[in-house]
Amino acid sequence: MSIRPDMSPTNKSRCRQAETKRHDPLFVSSEVYRETGYGTNHPLAIPRIGTVLDLCDALKWFENAPYVESLVASKAELTRFHSPDYVAALQEADRDGKVSSQSRQRYKIGTMENPFFPGLFKRAATSVGGSILAAKLAADGRTVYHPSGGTHHSVANLARGFCYFNDVVFAILTFLDLGVERVLYLDLDAHHGDGVQVAFESEPRVLTVSVHEENRWPYTGAVDDRGGGFARNIPVPAGFNDSELAFVMDEAVFPMAARFGPEAVVVCCGADGLSGDPLSSMSLSNVALWDMVARIVELVAPAVVVGGGGYNPWTVARCWTGLWGRLAGFEIPNSLPSIARDVLSKLECDLIDDDDVDDAWVNTLADAFNDGPVRAEIEEVVRKALQVESHPVNYILANSNKRA
Ligand SMILES: [Zn+2]
Repeated sequence: MSIRPDMSPTNKSRCRQAETKRHDPLFVSSEVYRETGYGTNHPLAIPRIGTVLDLCDALKWFENAPYVESLVASKAELTRFHSPDYVAALQEADRDGKVSSQSRQRYKIGTMENPFFPGLFKRAATSVGGSILAAKLAADGRTVYHPSGGTHHSVANLARGFCYFNDVVFAILTFLDLGVERVLYLDLDAHHGDGVQVAFESEPRVLTVSVHEENRWPYTGAVDDRGGGFARNIPVPAGFNDSELAFVMDEAVFPMAARFGPEAVVVCCGADGLSGDPLSSMSLSNVALWDMVARIVELVAPAVVVGGGGYNPWTVARCWTGLWGRLAGFEIPNSLPSIARDVLSKLECDLIDDDDVDDAWVNTLADAFNDGPVRAEIEEVVRKALQVESHPVNYILANSNKRA
């Protein structure tokens, strides 16, 4: 399998292919995310991946653990999951520079939610190409980090929730193609990982587990929602803190994962569950998310870790930069060097008042832990999740799967 770095001046310093050890973690991304954007007046009209790359460069975190340039998925690859007419409609919009009213109505592209912008097709196809590449590179047992991935809402023939193609589905399909018999998908984004669940809900080789805020878009993923048998959901209340995340993981998610016996894992580490995100009301620290992702990739290899949502440009950049630091074994600095602080101090966001920009968002990488009481609602949802887990139908499905 070849690593195909883009040797443009920007990327040259990041690519240290020759020094790659067999099991070193890899970082897959592309400059396309910096070059294209959701225009204005959209929650994703903020820099995210470009800032992460700049911070990792500033911290010299690509030196021993290399950066790999993403590939762009071909039409043939995209139509493995997405319907040919939907892919063609996105291509047509790309060619014409606008979305026809028919496509807008039928495929939900060019809407307020899923806007059309120059470079959209390449950007969306690159996130798929990156996730396919990430799974292939991970196949030898390593962890591959693809923070530009995590477009977990889109379905086969529709754009949904700011997502055009579902790159996560392709990472999972790639593992299956490589002969992996059981893939665990763990979704820690603040929103239910509905698109991935729907894609695999009746596939015995894939267990999807989503921890997300209850009563929030897309309003699916109730605790008793098992999809076609192979989905598990843990909806949590607003204010979800680090202690509650640890409780949910220890008492429900890790036991579910152990019972399934995954041979590979894909983790969606959306940053919108963090305290300070304008589109959720969860209260996690980035350190708590890093700890959980680190634990799951220690337990299961190969592993692909993707990003996801995240609408506060400071907390997103700090979370996904620090996650790479943790995965690649770098020490997280207590305070950032001035070159990194400069990167963070230049950020702006329409959804966040200047007065609400915490000094720590500019000067540090790691949040303070946000420990707190484990509320009765959390204990209750875990109890229900375990009830669902031990339901006879699940037992039969899980065991027939293991025999297959
Ligand atoms: Zn989200």
